[in-house]
Amino acid sequence: MAHVVVVGAGPVGLSAALGLRAHGLPVTLLEADPQGRQRPGSRALFVHRESLALLDGMRPGLAGTITSYGSTWHTRRTLYRGREVYARTFPAPEGPPPFTSLRQVDTERFLLAACEDAGVDIVWDARVTDVRVTPTGVALTGEDGRGWTGSHVIAADGARSAVRRLLDIPMEGSHADGFHVVADIADIPGAELPLERVFHYEHPGAGGRTVMRVPFTGGFQVDLQCREDDPEESYGSEEAARRWLPGIVGERYAERVLWVSTYRFLRKVAASFTDPRHRVLLVGEAAHLFPPFGARGMNSGIADAAAAAAAVAAGTEEAVAEFAAARRAAALFNSAAAGTALDHLRPRRRIVRARQRAAAALAPVLPRCGAWLEHAPYGPRTGSPASAGRTY
Ligand SMILES: Cc1cc2nc3c(=O)[nH]c(=O)nc-3n(C[C@H](O)[C@H](O)[C@H](O)COP(=O)(O)OP(=O)(O)OC[C@H]3O[C@@H](n4cnc5c(N)ncnc54)[C@H](O)[C@@H]3O)c2cc1C
Repeated sequence: MAHVVVVGAGPVGLSAALGLRAHGLPVTLLEADPQGRQRPGSRALFVHRESLALLDGMRPGLAGTITSYGSTWHTRRTLYRGREVYARTFPAPEGPPPFTSLRQVDTERFLLAACEDAGVDIVWDARVTDVRVTPTGVALTGEDGRGWTGSHVIAADGARSAVRRLLDIPMEGSHADGFHVVADIADIPGAELPLERVFHYEHPGAGGRTVMRVPFTGGFQVDLQCREDDPEESYGSEEAARRWLPGIVGERYAERVLWVSTYRFLRKVAASFTDPRHRVLLVGEAAHLFPPFGARGMNSGIADAAAAAAAVAAGTEEAVAEFAAARRAAALFNSAAAGTALDHLRPRRRIVRARQRAAAALAPVLPRCGAWLEHAPYGPRTGSPASAGRTY
């Protein structure tokens, strides 16, 4: 039976390995980091219902395990310069939740346990440094000289993918000026903030910078949109966060900072999601980079993983070519969607800010103005026509 190698044990590589096992294929998963590594930060929080359904199809019961640990908020609020312009509480649905929110490290913990249960052969301390594609398979070499072969390789080795680089596949796209700070804050037991996602345009407590707060199990993530001329060191460290955080959530959270990082709005898609022989399949951040607004990063990576596993199970060149075309089309759609969000968050034209100001003024009498301010930061909510009715 065809043996498949997955490179990278991030959320996408773990999902791909599970998907392959669900198709009955033997899998070796190579990870550069040592066993028991500590991955920092909440990072991708939002696991969409579609991703949960895909994971549950790979390992029945996994969605329930993840959602029973994660949190689902039913209230969304939007404020503009200290004044609420939108607030809505949705009734909890009868069936599975529409999404769940948990730190990426917790999602990875559940995925890793599922992979171990499913019989994935996981090799830690295995950094891939060479790839050779032949007409019948792929040979990989690690930095310590060990070798692995497979009929196919699913490359999920992240934004700096060595496999993609070794295959000479370029990333195409753009990055925006300016940076965001993302910080994890631990809840204060017994005095948790309300379970709601809050987006605040031009927050007066943050010097007029835009701020988003998203809950996760055990705490919340704050995203601070810095100005283009803000010095990164004044905002992007734990010490800096302890200075600006009280203006947003109050003094007592200054000592609850768990993790702080910065990121830029990158929108990049690999020129191809496979090699000319259709033996290597790129998935997740090895194939595309999107900003967090719209939650398209990890969710689209899980969709890539499911599609890659199905293509490898089909075992034909055509199936891999179809995977590559469909998932690249989805990535281009996701990148454009992130661009729409960016035009709203960091408008190039003054008229966009003027429109936002006008919508905020009109929101009390015209609820659709408040709804526009609520929805626009995340871009369109639809998916690519190549995604068969799905969002990611
Ligand atoms: C600081 C930061 C903040 C983020 N915040 C958000 C957020 O708020 N919301 C959001 O949606 N997304 C966020 N993201 C992005 C999100 O984390 C990614 O979408 C997600 O991690 C992508 O998963 P992946 O499995 O494709 O790649 P990764 O998670 O990067 O996993 C790649 C894996 O491959 C391994 N690896 C790398 N090279 C090799 C090699 N040569 N051989 C073997 N193994 C290798 C790595 O060690 C790693 O385990 C953030 C990312 C970062 C870095």
